[in-house]
Amino acid sequence: MKLDLKLTGCRALTMDPARPAAHTIGIWQGRIAGLDSDVADLPAAETVDLAGAVVLPGFIDAHTHLAWNGRHTIDITGLTTVAQILDRLGGSAGTGWIEASGYDRRIMDSPLTAADLDKISDGRPVYVADLSGHACVVNSAVLKQLPEITSDGWLTENEQLAARTLRLPYSLDEITAELRRSADQVLSEGVTMCAEAGIGAGLIASSPLEAAAYQRAQLPVRVQLMVSAYMLDDVQADPSDGIPRAIDLGLHTGFGDDMLSLGALKLWTDGGMMARTAALTEPYAGSDNAGQLAESEEFMRAAILDGHHAGWQLAIHAIGDRAIDFTLDAVAEAQRRRPQADARHRIEHCGLVRPDQLERIAALGLIPVVQPTFLWSYGDDYSEIMGAQRAPWMYRGRSFLDHGITVAGSSDRPVADGSPLRAIEFMVRRRSAAGQAVGPDEAITVEEAIRAYTLGSAYACRKEHVLGSLTPGKLADLVVLGEDPRTSDAIADIPVLATMVGGAFRFQRSS
Ligand SMILES: [Zn+2]
Repeated sequence: MKLDLKLTGCRALTMDPARPAAHTIGIWQGRIAGLDSDVADLPAAETVDLAGAVVLPGFIDAHTHLAWNGRHTIDITGLTTVAQILDRLGGSAGTGWIEASGYDRRIMDSPLTAADLDKISDGRPVYVADLSGHACVVNSAVLKQLPEITSDGWLTENEQLAARTLRLPYSLDEITAELRRSADQVLSEGVTMCAEAGIGAGLIASSPLEAAAYQRAQLPVRVQLMVSAYMLDDVQADPSDGIPRAIDLGLHTGFGDDMLSLGALKLWTDGGMMARTAALTEPYAGSDNAGQLAESEEFMRAAILDGHHAGWQLAIHAIGDRAIDFTLDAVAEAQRRRPQADARHRIEHCGLVRPDQLERIAALGLIPVVQPTFLWSYGDDYSEIMGAQRAPWMYRGRSFLDHGITVAGSSDRPVADGSPLRAIEFMVRRRSAAGQAVGPDEAITVEEAIRAYTLGSAYACRKEHVLGSLTPGKLADLVVLGEDPRTSDAIADIPVLATMVGGAFRFQRSS
């Protein structure tokens, strides 16, 4: 046998307990053919000496938004006054929509309104996306098309969706370009697979042809598409199938190949902490607002039951503890009605988990898909709005692992920083960007954090048989780092030297 490629001089941390370390990795036909003595004497078409560099399995981002992340909009991140924002948006070329992103209402000296935006819009519709993804500000040209909504321009959740829908769809060419930009970015950060969190309909949709854009783009990174539950339609299947609703052709989780596949069915049960719309059992600190559920309980429960019955893995967005209560009840009911071993349903974000909810998450085999960099970026604010008792319950790590729960790492890019190394550093240190401790009791070890971003996220995407560790027979996805995260005091700053997908280097750092 002749290998396609032999990597020598590696300090590989394989994440495979059977063989945790390796110096040589043999690759054949896009897979790991063997390690060390398995391949030492085999000839190879090419040999690359990594000169002692650290090698990990490729990072898997279990919840991200590639099209949204790659979209060219006017960036107003960090701007704090209306005058600054109008200055940035004024004089924007073109005739169609003016779109901006990065708005943060929490840091504004006074909130941006439709009347402000009218001053620079020249009659064009303006859409300013809030950082949270759960709100926006629009101008009068947009509000005029939404006569049922009364607002000064600030729209959240379903009202935001109504405004967003006016802008859609984007063209396949636009989406393809967005995807390619994002793929290059994630590869440079060591990500080899992304799970796109909800295509086809809903707030983050781009087009009814979204899946076609992924096929067309032929991205150099693996992608799993989660399909929005709003895509479920009534179907006239044989009654013995017990499937009242499905997407066209009955496609569901698992369809596709190693590069592009269908993942979970994505459902939303509440909003987010940044927009103060995550549904809580007790109000946000110092207010009487307790957030809101995304839809009526009846509607969400039906989507969970029907999705479960149609064979979908479910990815249920639930951030506040009230939304998580609802999710636990609905999943328990689905399993009671039609038990499914290894259903592996996921809770996306799983942001605020009361101590009494941990047991139930474990018992139902649910997988929290967490975003550690939320707390790195926004942890100071979130701690304040949760108050002293609840702040330690946010985006847990240690408690999940101690309850035997598999944790999956993800970013929700572009809502927060997408770097896996930054996320791993946060999971270990539990410090916000400003240096404040955020739930320090939830800290986990470096190896546990790496596992969350490799095997844990592979498990959440039902890909652990082919991804997540450097194990002979698995796909050859790996990342080459300039330093060992286990001994580094600045994990987020470790340079990513190269990223390999399926045995081919798809990113290499210049110099
Ligand atoms: Zn998301």
